[in-house]
Amino acid sequence: ATQIIWFRQDLRLEDQAAVVAAAAAGPVIAVYVLDDATPGERRMGGASRWWLHHSLAALDTALTARGARLLRLRGRAGVVLPELAAATGATTVHALHHYEPYALTQQAEVAKRLDLRLYDGLTLLPPDALTTGGGGRYRIFTPWWNALQTHMPPHTPQPGPAQFEMAPAPAGDTLADWALLPTRPDWAMGFRNWQPGEAGAHARLADFAGHVAGYDTGRNFPAQAATSRLSPHLHFGEISPAQAWARLAGEPGARPFLRQIGWRDFAVQTLDAFPDLHWRAMRPEFDRIAFTDIDGGDGAYQLAAWQRGRTGYPIVDAGMRELWATGWMHNRVRMIAASFLTKHLLIDWRHGERWFWDTLVDADLANNAMGWQWVMGSGVDAAPYYRIFAPVTQSAKFDAAAYIRRWVPELAALPGKAIHAPWEHGGARGYPPPIVDHATARARALAAFEAMKL
Ligand code: FAD
Repeated sequence: ATQIIWFRQDLRLEDQAAVVAAAAAGPVIAVYVLDDATPGERRMGGASRWWLHHSLAALDTALTARGARLLRLRGRAGVVLPELAAATGATTVHALHHYEPYALTQQAEVAKRLDLRLYDGLTLLPPDALTTGGGGRYRIFTPWWNALQTHMPPHTPQPGPAQFEMAPAPAGDTLADWALLPTRPDWAMGFRNWQPGEAGAHARLADFAGHVAGYDTGRNFPAQAATSRLSPHLHFGEISPAQAWARLAGEPGARPFLRQIGWRDFAVQTLDAFPDLHWRAMRPEFDRIAFTDIDGGDGAYQLAAWQRGRTGYPIVDAGMRELWATGWMHNRVRMIAASFLTKHLLIDWRHGERWFWDTLVDADLANNAMGWQWVMGSGVDAAPYYRIFAPVTQSAKFDAAAYIRRWVPELAALPGKAIHAPWEHGGARGYPPPIVDHATARARALAAFEAMKL
């Protein structure tokens, strides 16, 4: 009988258990459903849509080379897939297990009408596999990571089918029908440096394998291209974490990198245990903070200045502009920029999370929400709330001068030290003065946190 392969954030043919199982069971229909209805306001953001467009094109090409093709359907997965099944006589749907709250809804709705078979492969280990001595979920990374080691290495990556037997299917939409590409001319200029799709993911991995030895020393320096930039490929499942593990584990110096891959798993297990992660603080007192009002006045202006990289703090602005232009931001700078928004400007982390959601090509419900709550210190891991990243100190310590020159051209001519704090050296034409004073802002944030605990 006809088997449906339902692709979501697992857009690959290798090491994809749903693909393998479906192809072994009969002729297949490979389908991607653009479902904006089930996630509602958590539908994919703009940068992710750009990525999706190109990744689906690549997947279709890869399927075609193996005798199949990609069917594109739009609508609520719980409605569209049963309709497809009814039209084609298929009864079984094969998919990878996903854990975002809306993905669980999709799964439940599809399973009500069809035989839905879910497989592991999103993570190194299913998120509910590890529990603490008390039977609960881990909230702190290191003990979780240590517990994970007894299950590592992950499974050996499974090869995909060399050839598919294709079942007849309706025509479906074209990619152009979905209008996924950005229409703003100033946005996404640097997106073209990415190569979405499984082949692009493997090219990135192969390239990174050649310099993983320098990862640990280089990873905190935004001017160095020391990190893998695999995040959008991993988010869209163009490569599995098990494949990255298998390729890199034997390389000298790979451990710190594998640990970061572990953080991705940790985020999935945290979201699975705490499905409100993207809108509710894990420690409830953090929802009592008197955040800056952003519906007008200073707050609205400050949020916009942060979004557009006009805060007057060069390291923050460089990061926000890198994000706007390329859909990606270096991890060290994500931490600094997020800390600046939530602590220096005392703007609710949820506004920052939403901006990242819309502008990151690697926007990921679990990783993004965990990243923001980690910076807030609101209950993910042991990160303390009173840590406030000092932008100037961080910029100098992690040698961001070349990074700033690249992303903030108004400052390109400033010499050495001046670039981290231009206002102390007479400023630069066209570049704003600091939007808040560091010491004042820091004191205000600490006072707000103290008040929250009362
Ligand atoms: P590498 O350093 O090469 O790491 C390899 C992979 O490990 C990454 O691709 C990613 O999948 C995973 N990883 C690394 N660090 C983390 C981490 N701290 N948390 C979870 N996974 C990690 N990452 C996202 O993928 N999507 C997001 O939406 C996202 N939002 C973030 C928001 C904030 C405020 C912060 C502080 C971090 C966020 N991160 C997010 C985590 C991290 O910044 C990125 O994963 C990383 O910068 C991606 O670059 P890379 O692939 O070169 O990373």
